[in-house]
Amino acid sequence: MSTARSEPPTEAALVERIALLEERKAAIAAEQSEAVLAFAIAHAESQTAAGDVDPEALERSIAAQVGLACRVSPTEGRRRVRIARDLHAGHTRVRELFAAGRLSEYQTATIVAATAHLSPAERAEVDQELADRRVEALGVRRIHDLTRSLAAQVAPEKFTARCRAARTGRRVSVRPAADGMADLTAHLPVEEAVACYAALAAAVNEVAVRPEPVTRGRGQILADTLVERLTGQATARDVNIEIQVLVPVEALIDPDSPLPAQIAGHGPVPVELLTTGGGRRTWRRLITRDGVVIGGDSRSRLFTGRLAALIRARDGHRCREPYCDAPIRHIDHIRRWKDGGRTEFTNGRGLCAFHNHVRETAGWTVEIADGVVTTTTPTGAEHLSRICPGRPRRSEVRRSTDAARWRSRTRRHAGWTSAGGHDRTVRARRRPQPAP
Ligand SMILES: [Zn+2]
Repeated sequence: MSTARSEPPTEAALVERIALLEERKAAIAAEQSEAVLAFAIAHAESQTAAGDVDPEALERSIAAQVGLACRVSPTEGRRRVRIARDLHAGHTRVRELFAAGRLSEYQTATIVAATAHLSPAERAEVDQELADRRVEALGVRRIHDLTRSLAAQVAPEKFTARCRAARTGRRVSVRPAADGMADLTAHLPVEEAVACYAALAAAVNEVAVRPEPVTRGRGQILADTLVERLTGQATARDVNIEIQVLVPVEALIDPDSPLPAQIAGHGPVPVELLTTGGGRRTWRRLITRDGVVIGGDSRSRLFTGRLAALIRARDGHRCREPYCDAPIRHIDHIRRWKDGGRTEFTNGRGLCAFHNHVRETAGWTVEIADGVVTTTTPTGAEHLSRICPGRPRRSEVRRSTDAARWRSRTRRHAGWTSAGGHDRTVRARRRPQPAP
C-alpha cells in the first residue's frame, strides 16, 4: 500500500503491474484446476470404496460440488472438471504454459475443448505442435482454429464423427435480453444456418425494389421477416401471445401505484408497447408481494396447472439451486412426496433437469425450514436458498425449533435479498473431514 506522501506509481509501472496480475490470475486458475482434478479423483475413490456407484450419478455429483464451490452453474462445474481431467491426459506443454501464466484460463479451455474427442496420445501430438507454433502468442480465435485443424489432421475420422454428432445437438432457444428484448437463437448445421440467413437477406432485396419508401434498416427487415415467416402472420407486430403479468398486490389496492408490472421470466416491459399490434392477446395475472408471487395449494401429487405456473413465475423461470441459471424443467417437492411432503406452493421449487437428478444422488440431502431450503452436498457443505416471501420476524426465528441454526446462518450471511423471487443465498459450512 502506498502512503499519501509517496509518489504515485508511473504509468509504465501500472501497466507492468496489470500484466503481472494477469499472469498470476492464469497461474491461480491452473492451481485451482489441479485441485479440481484431485477432488474428483478423491471423491470417486471414496464413493466407490463405500459401495456400487453409478458412474453418471458420480460425475453429476462431482460437477455439482465443483460448481457450488466455484459459485458457477453445474454445467460450468462439469466443464471445469473435464478440462482439469483432459489437461492431465496429453496436454503437458499447454499445462506448463497455463501454470506459468503464459496461457490464460480462457485460452487453455479453448484448446482443451477443441481436443476433447482425442485420445491422450493424439492430444499429445497436438500439444507438441501448439507449443512449437508458440500458441501463447496467438489470440483466442486463432488458437481455436489452429487447434481444431491440428486435431482434424491427427485424427480425421474422429473429426468427421465429432461433426456428425454435433448435428444431433441442433436446437432453438430463447433468452431474455435487456430493455424488453429477447434473443432467439438457432444452433444449426452450418449449411442450414447459411441458407436461412440467405432467405432472410433475399427479403431485404424484395423490400428494396417495392415502390413504397423504405423506412426500416436492414437488421429490422431481417428480424421482421423472421417473425412473419415463423408465425405465418402478415406482419411481425400481429403476434398472438399469452402474457403472464406479475402485478404487485399494492397495485390492486391502489390503481395509481407506481410499482411496475413484469412479464414473468422476461423482466419489465412497458405495457403500451405490447398493445400496439393487431394480434390476439390473453393476460394471466399473478399477484406478487415484495416482488415474489404469492398463492395456491393443491391435493395433486404433481405440480400442475396454475400452481406450477405460480411456482415457475416465483422462481423467475430459472432453476432454484444456487448459481444455476438453467430453465426450469421440473417442479420438485422440496420435502419428498413419499416422505409426506405436500403438493403446495411452499413445498415446490423449480429445478433444471440436472439438479432434479443430482438431489437423488447418494450423499445429497435437501431440507426446508422457515422457508429456507438447505442443500447438503456429500462433503457436508450446506447451500441455502430462500423460497418464501418476506424475512421471518426475529420473534419467529427465536421461537423456531431451528432457532440456533437460523441464527448462525443469518450471522454468517450478510443479508437476504428479495429481488424477483431470485433471492438465492449461500453459505458453505464445512463439517470436519475424517483424516485420509
Ligand atoms: Zn439447476
